[in-house]
Amino acid sequence: MNPLICRPAHGTLCAVAHRCNSIYQKTAHMTKSLSLPALVIAASSFALHACAFAAPANALANSAAAPQPKLVVVLVVDGLPNEQVQRYRNQFGKNGKGGLGRMLAEGAAFSNAHQAHGVTVTAIGHSAVLTGAYPYVHGIIGNNWIDPTTRKSVYCTEDTNYTYIGEHTDPSDGTAPTRLRVDTLGDQLRYASGNRSKVITVSGKDRGAILLAGKTGTAYMYMEQTGNFASSTFYMPAHPAWVTQYQAGKPQDRYYGKTWSALLPDAAYAGDAHDDLTPAKPGGHNRLPYTYYSESGQIDAGYYNSLKTGPYLDQLTLDFARAAVEGENLGRNDSGVPDLLGVSLSAHDYVNHAYGPESKLSHDHLQRVDRMLGEFFNYLDKRIGMDNVLVVLTADHGFANTAEFSNQQRSESKRINGDQLMKDLGQHLSDKFGGAKLLAAWSLPNIHLDYAAADKAGLRHADVEDAAAQFLLNQPGVSDTFTRTQFESGAVTGTRIATLMRRAWNRAASGDLMVITRPYWYFASGATGTTHGSPYAYDTNVPLMIMGKRWIKPGYYGQYAEVVDIAPTLANILRVRPPAGSEGRVLVETLK
Ligand SMILES: [Zn+2]
Repeated sequence: MNPLICRPAHGTLCAVAHRCNSIYQKTAHMTKSLSLPALVIAASSFALHACAFAAPANALANSAAAPQPKLVVVLVVDGLPNEQVQRYRNQFGKNGKGGLGRMLAEGAAFSNAHQAHGVTVTAIGHSAVLTGAYPYVHGIIGNNWIDPTTRKSVYCTEDTNYTYIGEHTDPSDGTAPTRLRVDTLGDQLRYASGNRSKVITVSGKDRGAILLAGKTGTAYMYMEQTGNFASSTFYMPAHPAWVTQYQAGKPQDRYYGKTWSALLPDAAYAGDAHDDLTPAKPGGHNRLPYTYYSESGQIDAGYYNSLKTGPYLDQLTLDFARAAVEGENLGRNDSGVPDLLGVSLSAHDYVNHAYGPESKLSHDHLQRVDRMLGEFFNYLDKRIGMDNVLVVLTADHGFANTAEFSNQQRSESKRINGDQLMKDLGQHLSDKFGGAKLLAAWSLPNIHLDYAAADKAGLRHADVEDAAAQFLLNQPGVSDTFTRTQFESGAVTGTRIATLMRRAWNRAASGDLMVITRPYWYFASGATGTTHGSPYAYDTNVPLMIMGKRWIKPGYYGQYAEVVDIAPTLANILRVRPPAGSEGRVLVETLK
């Protein structure tokens, strides 16, 4: 039984589709091999493919029963664990003042939705949202990784054939979806509409915009040197007039000298971690109130960069999204076809990295995200009518608590210096195998071995892999390893973590060994802050909310769900083809 192919990406037209979905719920957390009756049922689920695809031909034309959304809004809050949404839900804005509050009240919200791959980082998480695919197919195996052929580090969206429009571009800057091997829901929407549907994405991070835009959408991203939003020459030779006009207003400059202070009364933050868990920086610039300024005393790149940590980057992103709605006339397409707007709000991730999801800053930041989204929905309501808008909200990954906080909660946690660990591993392999240099490169959790050196020394690849794995398993904080030989022989199976790691491992792009920390431990070079990236629930459990009263039944759903379910669910509602690598299920329980 291959856990990779047990999720049929079919529609909901067959009567037994539910049964098929329930099989996946078993296999997703598979702890032992399937029995014969289960295999028979699994085989019947594959027969459903034919059944679903034999359904009447789809078209984008509206049906009387369920008109098409005029606009699909896909929101990604970078680095938002679902637990934060639930922990602070009673403080979200009421009566249209809060966007998260509105989605919880009027939409379908899943408690047990996961980014269900083993390396929970931004690029992979954003790729999952609209491709419906895992890294073993879509090819984005990290933010950065080692190219196995050149042994050089590559960035997920870099492509030196393209530059930002009107902005300085470094070779490693993200400009294009070249490394994304599959298309997205937006690409399928454009295909189905003869390219009449518009697909526009915007984010504080290039990878947040580019990996949502797919191959034929258009991405705009925040420039940390200038505070502008810009696209790249992959998408167009020059910006449309509305972008030039937006940039001319210099909205990014209006926050200089502005202070981010707490939104709610002090008592609202009583349950947060004590500020002293994070040592104060000189000038108190990791506490609220937090004033935006620059070292030079003037508006400069340092100031624009500082806007990333706090609510103003997200405000700018949503302001630019509004400009896009108007500039491109999204949701009022002349051809009557749906448009898609993708917005990835990056700042929550920066706040959580610096202070942890238990901090007052993170708590306050999420309240501000809620209010900003509330205003954005009210804007869309006035312009397009929320009855015509379908909104999805999720996150690219969750977050671990800071090591200090985890220890306080009696969950042992330490930061592991990955570079030191790899130096020790290289030395160990050299000592064990007669001086051969067998460790080639690493971009954790991926480790690349030098198989040519192993061949030259007359060593079996599996023996080198096993020696490396044994060494790592004896180190503090390491819980598991997976080798290329194990992946290729199909031996990586049988546990949730094995399934997630296999999905994260791409034969052509990934390393020869992957290393997993114990829960709550994480790789870090600094002495403060925290991160994400593990296969544990605090990193994988993210919000998955869908709102749109013509299509979605509101409620709080406990069914197991994955972020890869979003693309096939939207494909079902929009009646377009699921993206090429899609293997999620349609979230039929939410559909009207
Ligand atoms: Zn992220």
